[in-house]
Order: sequence, then structure tokens, then C-alpha cells
Amino acid sequence: MKLEERLFLDRFNVHEDNHLIVDTSKCTECSLKPCTFVCPVDDYNWDGGKLIISYEGCLECGACEVVCPFDKIKVMSPPAGKGVSFRFG
Ligand code: SF4
Ligand code: SF4
Repeated sequence: MKLEERLFLDRFNVHEDNHLIVDTSKCTECSLKPCTFVCPVDDYNWDGGKLIISYEGCLECGACEVVCPFDKIKVMSPPAGKGVSFRFG
């Protein structure tokens, strides 16, 4: 099964508060910008010299937090019942 097909199985109950806490103060110094290619759902995009972050499709995997060389990303957990629900059908 392709990644896109697997992602289609997931369901999202989006919370109004962003659970990705990102301090962008070091992003211009960050040469590789690993958050923009490690995220499986492309939540981070570098555009016009700034980081654009969307959180609605976040899988809460934590990969972006691990790879940020400046430790500027915190992936919080949405409240119970909110966020992603994985289905393995
Ligand atoms: S990895 Fe961290 S420092 Fe680099 S662009 Fe992403 S948020 Fe900014
Ligand atoms: S936690 Fe995972 S899915 Fe969510 S923004 Fe970070 S890398 Fe992307």
C-alpha cells in the first residue's frame, strides 16, 4: 500500500490550538532545514525566506522535533479526542 493510501485511512479531529510549538528565531541560520523534508505530510515549507507551518494533518510522530538542530520544535499532544486517529484497515 502506498503512503498516500495509508494516510487516506487516517482521520483528523483538528483542535483549534496549534500543537506544534516552533520558535523560528534560528531558521534563517539553519542550512539544511530538515523539518521541511522529514515531515511525512509536508507540514513545514520554506517559502519567501520564512517557515510556513501547518498542523492540521500532523501525524504526531515527533520526527520534526528530533531533527531540528537548534531544538526549536516541540510537538505537544492535542487534547483527548483531538488530533489524528490511525486506522490500519
Ligand atoms: S529544523 Fe528547526 S531551525 Fe531548522 S528550519 Fe526547521 S524549525 Fe527552523
Ligand atoms: S510531528 Fe510528524 S507529522 Fe507532525 S509536523 Fe512533525 S514530522 Fe510532521
